[in-house]
Amino acid sequence: MPLPISSSLSSLLEIQELDFAATAAQKRSDSLPERNLLIKLSARITRSRAELAAAQAEQKQIEKEEEALGASVAELNSAIEAADVERYSGKRIDRDEASEHDTEQAKRRGEKAAIEEKEMELLESMEAAEDKAAKIDAEIKEIHAEGVSVQSGVRAVEAEVAAELEEIAKKRMALATGLPGEIMAAYDRVRAQKGKAGRGVTSLSEGSCGACSIKLPSLEFTRMRDEPADALIQCPQCRRLLIRE
Ligand SMILES: [Zn+2]
Repeated sequence: MPLPISSSLSSLLEIQELDFAATAAQKRSDSLPERNLLIKLSARITRSRAELAAAQAEQKQIEKEEEALGASVAELNSAIEAADVERYSGKRIDRDEASEHDTEQAKRRGEKAAIEEKEMELLESMEAAEDKAAKIDAEIKEIHAEGVSVQSGVRAVEAEVAAELEEIAKKRMALATGLPGEIMAAYDRVRAQKGKAGRGVTSLSEGSCGACSIKLPSLEFTRMRDEPADALIQCPQCRRLLIRE
């Protein structure tokens, strides 16, 4: 004796509701706008890190130039001091030599002053480069903190969805156990097909397919109606499994 319809295949419609709920839950997680935001933040961090590296390289370059200038000043100081020691050592020199000494010393002092001026400019550039690097560094930390916060929001939704999916899977398994394997296989096959919108089963009501709305020829309908309750019946047009009402 065939099983009453309500206790056999109609649970397939409940399974389908669960499958829709699972798809919706997964979509809720997959389409979180925060995921795009995370990608953008990650790109911004990459860009800022490159800017920071450039600012730090600039700082190093200025330091190197500053060192070279410092060495030149030290050299000039030594030369000035040595010339003065020589000049005032008590050695007698004539007016021309004295004048030459003064000219040379003035030239050295002039060079030194020019270099020191350059050093001042470099110090200003150095400060600017340091400020720039510090600002970028602070930006990176800010972006990172935002990323961590957004990430934790995404993880929370993922955990919620995972729990929901687990619950759905349990219910689905309980319902599927009561159905013939071939029915479940046919349902899964049809709903996975292109253009089926995940709908593998529908009701057959008043001779029409609940999904594609085709009106079945009355001969076909009569044949279907008389099949055993757990028989696999499919819409001749869209191939969806049909549950008789
Ligand atoms: Zn159909």
